Amino acid sequence: MAGEPQDDCLFCKIVAGSIPATIVRETETTVAFRDINPQAPTHVLVIPKAHHTDAAALAAAAPELAADVLRETQAVADEEKLDSYRVVFNTGSGAGQTVWHAHAHVLGGRGLNWPPG
Ligand code: 5GP
Ligand code: ZN
Repeated sequence: MAGEPQDDCLFCKIVAGSIPATIVRETETTVAFRDINPQAPTHVLVIPKAHHTDAAALAAAAPELAADVLRETQAVADEEKLDSYRVVFNTGSGAGQTVWHAHAHVLGGRGLNWPPG
């Protein structure tokens, strides 16, 4: 069911604390932690604690929670003192999504090319 923890989901396990992560921020509804394979000096993932498969499903099922995630991307950027940064929601395997629990990548601390690859 949408929102319920999934036994086979890596990010649900990070929310539950059964897999360790370097957590940089936590709210009642979200967790932000450093990506294990950073692509920039700052590379933080912001996730809803509730399980939704991708950003589109999250926005459709729980728009206020989607807004919480977006608000937290700004909070991470502030904490990391980033003037410019990029927020990415890879959606679908063709776009590079590998974890099927909605997450925003917050990338910054270096020049970021546009358009992205
Ligand atoms: P996606 O490719 O789905 O957009 O992003 C998934 C991200 O999760 C990748 O950037 C990957 O490096 C990161 N990741 C995968 N496994 C782990 C993990 O166990 N811990 C952390 N902190 N990040 C992970
Ligand atoms: Zn999950």
